[in-house]
Amino acid sequence: MGPTYLRNVSLAISIIFFVGAIATPSRYPHHCAAGDSCWPSAISWAELNSTLHGRLVRSLPPAAPCHVPYYDAEACAAVQANWSQENWRSDQPGAYQDTAWENGDGPCYVDGPKNVTCQQGLVPYYTAAVQSLEDIQVAVDFARDNSLRTRIKGAAHDYLGKSSGKGSFAIQTIHMKGITFEDNFVPAACDVPAQKAVTVAAGEHFYDLYKAADAHGVVVVGGGCSGVGAAGGWPLGGGHSLLSPQYGLGVDNVLQFTVVTADGKSRTVNECENSDLFWAMRGGGGGFAVTTSVTYKTHPAIENTTVVLLSLNTTKDAFAPAMSEYLAFQPTASDANFSAYTLVLSTPPLGMQIQAMYLLPNSDGDIERANATFAPLFRYAEAHAEAGDVAVSTEIVVMKSELDIYEQLLPQDPQGVASILGSRLFPRSAFEDAQKSPQLAEFLGGLTATPNSIVMLLLVAGGKVNVPAPDAMGVNPSWRNALAHVLIYDGWLSNTSIPDRNKIREGLTEKTQELAQFVPGMGAYLNEADINEPEWQKTFWGDNYARLLDIKTRYDPTGVLTCGKCVGDDVFGS
Ligand SMILES: Cc1cc2nc3c(=O)[nH]c(=O)nc-3n(C[C@H](O)[C@H](O)[C@H](O)COP(=O)(O)OP(=O)(O)OC[C@H]3O[C@@H](n4cnc5c(N)ncnc54)[C@H](O)[C@@H]3O)c2cc1C
Repeated sequence: MGPTYLRNVSLAISIIFFVGAIATPSRYPHHCAAGDSCWPSAISWAELNSTLHGRLVRSLPPAAPCHVPYYDAEACAAVQANWSQENWRSDQPGAYQDTAWENGDGPCYVDGPKNVTCQQGLVPYYTAAVQSLEDIQVAVDFARDNSLRTRIKGAAHDYLGKSSGKGSFAIQTIHMKGITFEDNFVPAACDVPAQKAVTVAAGEHFYDLYKAADAHGVVVVGGGCSGVGAAGGWPLGGGHSLLSPQYGLGVDNVLQFTVVTADGKSRTVNECENSDLFWAMRGGGGGFAVTTSVTYKTHPAIENTTVVLLSLNTTKDAFAPAMSEYLAFQPTASDANFSAYTLVLSTPPLGMQIQAMYLLPNSDGDIERANATFAPLFRYAEAHAEAGDVAVSTEIVVMKSELDIYEQLLPQDPQGVASILGSRLFPRSAFEDAQKSPQLAEFLGGLTATPNSIVMLLLVAGGKVNVPAPDAMGVNPSWRNALAHVLIYDGWLSNTSIPDRNKIREGLTEKTQELAQFVPGMGAYLNEADINEPEWQKTFWGDNYARLLDIKTRYDPTGVLTCGKCVGDDVFGS
């Protein structure tokens, strides 16, 4: 399915919608954006600022001080120094980890000339930098009463641009801090046994949660990148973790949310109160309510983890058979309880590399067991060593705590670049199909041919992820049948022309649809997916979509909390 085909289909759909719009005007108000005649007056914004105790910010792209009309040499130097810092980006009202969702295609680049006028791009026009439940209620009421294009922004890691939007009003939750451990937590109004839990406020990052959990002698299932918001988009979308095969997805560990719904009411959401919303918020993505806190189960501290660091280098010709062998190894590793991150990239001019990190928690430092699991791969590499076309190197280390893993093996990624991605969840059978495996290996290798493109294979499913029923909660049912999450990345530099960016975007969609053909019937993880997925409702939620949409329209009947490719985008727009 090529991009031309997609363009033709979308043109046909636009024509149908246009005809429909004349016959039946939308039941829902248009979302007001900055510049529209319905945008509130300066006096209304000043009143909002006063009610929010001065916490309303006129948000600008982070590189604004480096350009006219906002140029300020000292402030620009500070921006340049912090540009790739994850936490700095989360804190700025106008910054996003991925600049594709910050500038859009309007220039305001940190490396661009000062005399190029800074454009607002996709950065919200005003941001309510909320600090309390009451602030959130004020902001939601204002958004609803003025029919604003509203965005919720936490740690700003979203890959689909859900937390930014041209001319929007953002509710920034990053300043809502607090981490509280309880030994005997019982969800409100429930008659169930007490358990150990931690309640995390909406603005916490995983790194601070991991440090607090370590000090408290427990572990929490959380994201591999410790700069991701611990109580924002991650649990709403599903939340995969290196601990997921042992303890399930993030959504399998949520005991309770506290939220503000579109009517401005504060609510507790769990199995016993607002249970339909609880079902939806565990995987339905953003747009159901504004989270003020999430309570997660905690698990006993992991005393040691055996970590296998693997690097498999091949010539271009030897790559496909080696990758095929590597794919067949995934079920073996999963059966031995390993989770893993694998990166596939080309190493110009001639080579390819498979880099991986495999983790075996609570393994008592049993290096023999790790060696036995990896024996098939080592045998393959040895058999090809003489020909000189495959070389393997491994290092096995034992980490004493989860926190050590995040501090020593997974330091925060540099951010502030433009990247896009596409993905599919892969079932076990896809790795066991000896006939299709060489084609898949060949295809994945081909994806790394362009300069910014890489492939990732995350062994973060299987095990406990596959235990709950597909309709137990709103999350994509494909997770319950998945062994791994396969991602393809691309991106561009600030000086890439807009036609070239569009080609990269179209190319990524085309490749993602080809990837999907290897796993018919499987969906994609909505937090790490292609924004241009053609059948996004089915791909992100499968058979759960109809129920999610029903719950969305009951809790937010006029579409106050919207975002692109979120539940209800097809009804309310975004
Ligand atoms: C470097 C990097 C590493 C990642 N690693 C992982 C990983 O290991 N595992 C994984 O599962 N995912 C991972 N992700 C994907 C991540 O889960 C999503 O990007 C997620 O949306 C990030 O949430 P956020 O709150 O940090 O981002 P934001 O951009 O701030 O928020 C995204 C959306 O989440 C919703 N949201 C956020 N806060 C709230 C709130 N308080 N109330 C209501 N809605 C809210 C809103 O719809 C918002 O638009 C990674 C992303 C990046 C960029």
